[in-house]
Amino acid sequence: MPLATPFRRNIVRAFLLVALLLGVSLLSGLYQAWLNHLEGQRSELFRDASTVSNYVQSTLIDASKLLDIAQQRLNADLASEKLTPERAQETLLDTVSAFSLYNTSDRFGLLFCTDKNGTFFAASSGLKNDALHFDDRFYFKDLETHPDKRLAIGNLVHTRTTKKDAFHMAMPLKDKRGNFAGVVIQQILEEDLSKQLEPMMTNSAARVYTYAANDKVGFVFPASELIQSNDQPDARRLLEIIDKNGASSAFIKVKANTIGLPETNYVEFAKSSKFGIYTVALISEREVISEFLTKNIFTLSYSLLAFIIASALFIRLYRQAVRLDNSQFTSNHDSLTGLNNRRCLDENFQNLWRDSMRSQKPISVLFMDIDHFKRVNDQYGHEIGDKVLKAVSVTIGKCLRRPLDLYCRWGGEEFVAVLPETPMAGAQLIAEEILRAVSSIELEAPPVKVTISIGIASMTVNSHNLHDDLIDMADRAMLQAKNEGRNRAVCFNTPAQ
Ligand code: GH3
Ligand code: MG
Ligand code: MG
Repeated sequence: MPLATPFRRNIVRAFLLVALLLGVSLLSGLYQAWLNHLEGQRSELFRDASTVSNYVQSTLIDASKLLDIAQQRLNADLASEKLTPERAQETLLDTVSAFSLYNTSDRFGLLFCTDKNGTFFAASSGLKNDALHFDDRFYFKDLETHPDKRLAIGNLVHTRTTKKDAFHMAMPLKDKRGNFAGVVIQQILEEDLSKQLEPMMTNSAARVYTYAANDKVGFVFPASELIQSNDQPDARRLLEIIDKNGASSAFIKVKANTIGLPETNYVEFAKSSKFGIYTVALISEREVISEFLTKNIFTLSYSLLAFIIASALFIRLYRQAVRLDNSQFTSNHDSLTGLNNRRCLDENFQNLWRDSMRSQKPISVLFMDIDHFKRVNDQYGHEIGDKVLKAVSVTIGKCLRRPLDLYCRWGGEEFVAVLPETPMAGAQLIAEEILRAVSSIELEAPPVKVTISIGIASMTVNSHNLHDDLIDMADRAMLQAKNEGRNRAVCFNTPAQ
């Protein structure tokens, strides 16, 4: 049976085409959805970076107003050399209560000041603790080194006074000679600021970092323990990348490990016009992809379902085609010998007959019948009979070498061969060869010997002839061969050899 009939090949082609169309439309749809998703994420991140940037900036503006008042009062006391811890505490408390009229949020923690060595001096809360030192804090060192600076912003720390996460804005204090005399500091509480920002944020997976001038994180959203660990972006590298990308607002994909983060991230940023702070919002590629998949789960599922249904239909169709091929094969072939059967010969003989009429070349038929086959069955049983039949069918087949020769099991122990473009003489030669080949068949066990009788008929076809007549003539010649003693070939209308 042929392995892949044209019908089955076409089914496979149709399936591949449908799969290709499905795949292409799915991929182009998903690609467009991915671009839209990225754009959505970009604008969310940009909004979040801008929101945090603006909010931190306005908080710093408030803090600077408060510090400005405290600084002026403390400086005045320092100038008149009347500054004691008690007086400083009173000043700080007054400033906070005066400012509380304007300050409606509670993001401000302690307002406190240090002496010129960075040792705790006084606080708005009434805290007294000479053992607290702040000389290692960035804002103190910055102002001590540059006392002419108006202010300094520190990085996110765990505070020594209130044990909370906060960043600080500080202003320098000066004595009457204008020398550096300490700093006044406002705590800005991380958690409270974060809580106030929460309802304004759009992308729940975004992490936002605000950096002050020292490239250290001042504020992080959402407030977390993250700041204690090393798992935060390398600001300097990040700034370089942002600068390299040029645009004021660009959605940048930053590969894993380039900014000290283990994952690939998308980055948006916003710069504040005041205080030199900048804010970056990051979202990991994993989050972006997982949100995309969640959003498109229906599209993906439907496409997968469509693919599965289409595949199932095609598999069904293919199986039916295989069954059809099988039944076509069995209807045209003999199950014992695998040869064409009589129906197949009938179908194909028509074409050979027409060709022969067109070419006016003679066509011959051999009608072959195994001699005394009944005896073989009777003597050795049907199984051995079948074996002999198969051996004879193969042996005859080997003698018919032309591609157009048509050969079938006619029924029982009878075979017919149609030999196009073969005159009687040529058919006789083949018949002789078949006689010789069949009589020399040697079955190993049991040692059965068989012979065959062949009737030969040949004609040049004209419109009055029928191919059945030619077969009939060959059949009659075969009967004559039987009558003349078997194991011979007889030509129709010719004397026996
Ligand atoms: P003859 O020389 O006159 O042709 O004698 P014969 O015995 O060959 O002819 P006959 O027509 O009397 O018997 C043909 C036998 O072929 C009958 C049947 O048992 C056997 N036969 C037909 N088909 C098959 C088959 O498929 N398998 C087997 N084992 N035997 C078959
Ligand atoms: Mg017979
Ligand atoms: Mg026979």
